[in-house]
Amino acid sequence: MGIMERMRLDGKVSFVTGGARGIGKAIATAVAEAGSHVAIVDMDIDEATKTAHEIADTIGVKAIAIQADVTVKEEVDAMISTILDTFGKLDVAFCNAGICMNIPASEMTAEQFRKVIDINLTGVFLTSQAAANVMLKQGKGSIINTASMSGHIVNVPQPQCAYNASKAGVIQLTKSMAIEFAKKGVRVNSISPGYIGTDLVLEAPHLKVLIDQWNAMAPLGRLGRPDELQAIAVYLAGDTSDFTTGSDFVIDGAFSCF
Ligand code: NAD
Repeated sequence: MGIMERMRLDGKVSFVTGGARGIGKAIATAVAEAGSHVAIVDMDIDEATKTAHEIADTIGVKAIAIQADVTVKEEVDAMISTILDTFGKLDVAFCNAGICMNIPASEMTAEQFRKVIDINLTGVFLTSQAAANVMLKQGKGSIINTASMSGHIVNVPQPQCAYNASKAGVIQLTKSMAIEFAKKGVRVNSISPGYIGTDLVLEAPHLKVLIDQWNAMAPLGRLGRPDELQAIAVYLAGDTSDFTTGSDFVIDGAFSCF
């Protein structure tokens, strides 16, 4: 079988948190195009339902929407139960939901700091742990966490200490779980995107105004697009990446190289 066929995900079952829009939607669409059934997990059930219908109608795989807040363990567990009731197994988990807050470190309240860490780091822990506990029983599975180039560099000029700390945490969480599960068939990797043109950036008034400054610093002179993260997502989900675990894939147009 050629490499393109071996990269297909036919018959697999995947979930994507934060899958309703942006990077998560691009990832869910990509794995569905490669043949995987998919659960779109999001707090925003209306948008998640729209995305699931769009994927089912245009691609033909089974796609369902599940409402869950990744910071609430009971909701994460219920999400896993729904997936197992619907599909009978879980092959691929994309722990992708995240938020950004741009507040100077000297002014950030404990509550604001905790909120970012809770969604971006604890949320990834809870969803990847719940997925792993299914996959460890199966003896196989692939977990892919969305980190960020902010886990490697400090973005400027916007102040975002909690976000940067949370994403550095995701990278180390990923590597720690990869080591623990390595001999048990469960792989854990992360993707670290650079600036990508999604609502997180384009709809936030305080970030939108910075795009020209970022582009002036960017070696490629532009933002990335969500579709430019699709191939790495399909690769990590599938069996051709069986020797790939504990790795972080920086896809940032060389932004973090200097
Ligand atoms: P987005 O804001 O467009 O989408 C995020 C989705 O996550 C939304 O649908 C939202 O409803 C959902 N969500 C938020 N909190 C949630 C929670 N507690 N439980 C469940 N769902 C929740 O964002 P995006 O740009 O697509 O970002 C996706 C991921 O990629 C995030 O982890 C983000 O930090 C990361 N990232 C984004 C960029 C970028 O430039 N856009 C760069 C690097 C990393």
